[in-house]
Amino acid sequence: MVLGSRRDGGKVCSPRNIKRFRSATGVSAAPSTSPPTNSNVQVFIRVRPLNGREREKNDRSIIDVVDSTSLIFDPKESDVPFFYHGVKQKLRDPTKRANKNLPLTFDRVFDQYADNNEVYEHTTKDVIKTLFEGYNCSVFSYGATGAGKTYTMLGNDENKGIMYLTMVALYAELEKLREDHDITLVVGYIEVYNEVVHDLLNPESKQLHLLERNGDVVISGMKVIEINSEDELFERLVEGNKQRTQHPTDANAESSRSHAIFQVFVKLAPKGTDQFKHFKLSMIDLAGSERASATQNVKARFNEGSNINKSLLALGNVINALADNQRHIPYRDSKLTRILKDSLGGNCKTIMIANVSPAQIAYEDTYNTLKYADRAKKIKSKLQKNI
Ligand code: ADP
Ligand code: MG
Repeated sequence: MVLGSRRDGGKVCSPRNIKRFRSATGVSAAPSTSPPTNSNVQVFIRVRPLNGREREKNDRSIIDVVDSTSLIFDPKESDVPFFYHGVKQKLRDPTKRANKNLPLTFDRVFDQYADNNEVYEHTTKDVIKTLFEGYNCSVFSYGATGAGKTYTMLGNDENKGIMYLTMVALYAELEKLREDHDITLVVGYIEVYNEVVHDLLNPESKQLHLLERNGDVVISGMKVIEINSEDELFERLVEGNKQRTQHPTDANAESSRSHAIFQVFVKLAPKGTDQFKHFKLSMIDLAGSERASATQNVKARFNEGSNINKSLLALGNVINALADNQRHIPYRDSKLTRILKDSLGGNCKTIMIANVSPAQIAYEDTYNTLKYADRAKKIKSKLQKNI
């Protein structure tokens, strides 16, 4: 997947990389290193490192990260051989099917050497500015179970995830305003599991219900809390995550069907006035997408009893409808899309981080995730200020 030089950040269009991308695309121009769109939907790919088991098996890598915005899925054997931890990797597809050799570009592609700080710098850092301009924002981590969604959003003590890093930046920004503004910041953390909404900050509570008020969706009874320090925030996130029907390290396939939605509500007004601005940031660690791929079978969509994650499917349908510029966007079809109605498309900035494994064993999941992400790239909605 990765050329030796990339370890030191060699994310440049070297002549060799350009040649590889050209041979895969059949296009004579070099791939652009600038983001493909300037839209309010940005799509990123994060390729996680091979895990111990995959490395032991000397599993073939199915992604070749060419530079900071492009990759080749299922590269051809004839491509330049690459090394991983000094070991030459196999490129031949053991199933002997023809390699897809599919070139794709995104707003940014992160390889296995990218840490959460790097991901933050290029994904959600700018979100703070957008929020203060008056737009709601939502950030998704998408991908199959084990692809790195929770690692990206929550992270761990040594490598804190982008939920935390974004919040630290948001606090710093608010601190600057505190002198002459009245500010309220509260957070909520909920889970959607089997179309039931649970409060992760208040695990004793019963399921939460969604209410519509003046066209807005309100989560009735959701506990919101003020957070007074960054450490407290991380603790609350970790605590909340433990309440998830899926514990982050739980490999139970059943339980990977939960979506965790962390929401930040900010209200601020110049001191002594009532000119309040409201904005909302939602960060969502989605359920494993391997369940959604089965739903590409249209018939399965109507099979009530099947093991389908309704919310994830509905999210895909909303994304398709937005990408096709359809008049009717089916937000109402699931809990997740109802909750995020004011944070998806229309008046909102959306960031999708699609997580993939580079291992041969994850071939179908990785391919489906890349297709989904490629589709999401096509959404270009008009921003409307919400203040
Ligand atoms: P998911 O939430 O998509 O099911 P996880 O985030 O739990 O997947 O990741 C699965 C495993 O891979 C975890 O042990 C995690 O620590 C590890 N992992 C994921 N992404 C990375 C990464 N970029 N770097 C190092 N380890 C990672
Ligand atoms: Mg997870």
